[in-house]
Amino acid sequence: MNFSDLGLSPEVLRAVEDAGYKQPTPIQEQAIPYVLMGRDVLGCAQTGTGKTASFTLPMIDILASGRARARMPRTLVIEPTRELAAQVSEAFDVYGKHHKLNQALLIGGESFTDQERKLDRGVDVLIATPGRLIDLFERGKILLSDVKILVIDEADRMLDMGFIPDVERIVGLLPKIRQTLFFSATMPPEIRRLADAFLMNPKEISVAPPASPAATVTQGLVVVQPDQKRDVLRRLIASENVKNALIFCNRKRDVDILYRSLKRHGLDVAALHGDMPQSKRTETLERFRNDEIRLLVASDVAARGLDIQGMSHVFNFDVPIHAEDYVHRIGRTGRAGREGRAFTLAAPEDGRFVQTIEQLIGKPIPPVSVDGIAAATLSFEDGDGRSRGRSRRGHGKSHGAAPQHGKPRQSAPRHEPPRAAKPHEPAHKPETARQPAPARFAPITMGATPPAEPPRATAASADKPDRHNSDDGPRVVGFGDHMPAFLARRAARG
Ligand code: AMP
Repeated sequence: MNFSDLGLSPEVLRAVEDAGYKQPTPIQEQAIPYVLMGRDVLGCAQTGTGKTASFTLPMIDILASGRARARMPRTLVIEPTRELAAQVSEAFDVYGKHHKLNQALLIGGESFTDQERKLDRGVDVLIATPGRLIDLFERGKILLSDVKILVIDEADRMLDMGFIPDVERIVGLLPKIRQTLFFSATMPPEIRRLADAFLMNPKEISVAPPASPAATVTQGLVVVQPDQKRDVLRRLIASENVKNALIFCNRKRDVDILYRSLKRHGLDVAALHGDMPQSKRTETLERFRNDEIRLLVASDVAARGLDIQGMSHVFNFDVPIHAEDYVHRIGRTGRAGREGRAFTLAAPEDGRFVQTIEQLIGKPIPPVSVDGIAAATLSFEDGDGRSRGRSRRGHGKSHGAAPQHGKPRQSAPRHEPPRAAKPHEPAHKPETARQPAPARFAPITMGATPPAEPPRATAASADKPDRHNSDDGPRVVGFGDHMPAFLARRAARG
């Protein structure tokens, strides 16, 4: 199917051609005709599938007729993070270049003045994070009674970030008769409930299950004691051919701590998390995109959905608590058909999280050993100390590092604590201990042992949801001219 078969206007088709897109992605192919028909859409799709264009392209055509009135936006796009909101705003610029549409980007943080000025002029498209939108509504700067199309993007992320009450409140302020486009990477029951409440007879579309990491990403798992993680990370960075890497921590304060540690070791590194001022976040991202920084330590909130071209590595300094985040994180590399490598550093107590991830992706993450570092064993005990599964050793003695492909090389001694609750059983039944793989990848050399760990930095910032802080700095540009391989896969028709 071609873009020209979807019912889009010649102007939008020209913009698509200018963007270098040859063919619609599965979500675009399925969603665009329904959006143009005025139907509600429930899309199960993650970033990287082309979902942004699946709603922006038809919206631009729908908006081509009619005009916005002051303070009364005609359409509203709600995004969980400022970076994603900025990317969507960029999409409207790119695809709407042959139209005269006014848009406003309302993201949390500083000066309201520019945003209010734009609202006063009348906007066709309002792209907002929930917190700032509610702030402006409460100040009487905006009326939502003229919104004809509502887009809720990354609904599951809104849930994770505690934004659902805000979203429900916002939806309550909109006209009942409207078109709603609702996207989520996953559909847990809470998200289903929201979709049922917000949508009327939606066309359901599901593409490229979020549980399938790009086939071009080589994965590896290192199980070590927590106090060795930084050492392990530095060794991996030293031994891997890292062009540029995102390093994920679960908590903002750990982002700061790790950033300072890597900096002290002379590495070319920056940090990105939700407590930083938006101007700093935007500037840091731009420098990372422009290859001025090699390593970026980030939280999930800050890095979610970022479209950075050609990243060679992702390191999970912490095992993500939500299994889907693992897929999102490692999906930052291996894009556009390029090879990417993703290493996850697990502490023994992360056993159950690793297990859930492996269930989601349907296979074990191959174990990796790092020379000079004693391997630890994943534990599957719950808070009461009861075993919930089988204990697995990361590996025996240390070898050169190499992600393992296929089956474990040899059986390992079994450590079988009493069997318990089935739901925690990994889908793939990892019965053997994990052994390091043959040195198919460059082994980690001990010659260049990194210096000892400097003293710990203190925690800098508390974890809290990422809202009410932002600015109007330069926009994040999130569009490339590539077609990631998995975009081409056929979608399951809903
Ligand atoms: P998204 O899922 O909206 O974040 O899009 C992911 C990436 O795919 C962005 O870099 C888009 O520019 C790109 N993209 C979107 N649609 C297409 C298409 N039809 N062909 C090629 N690339 C696309």
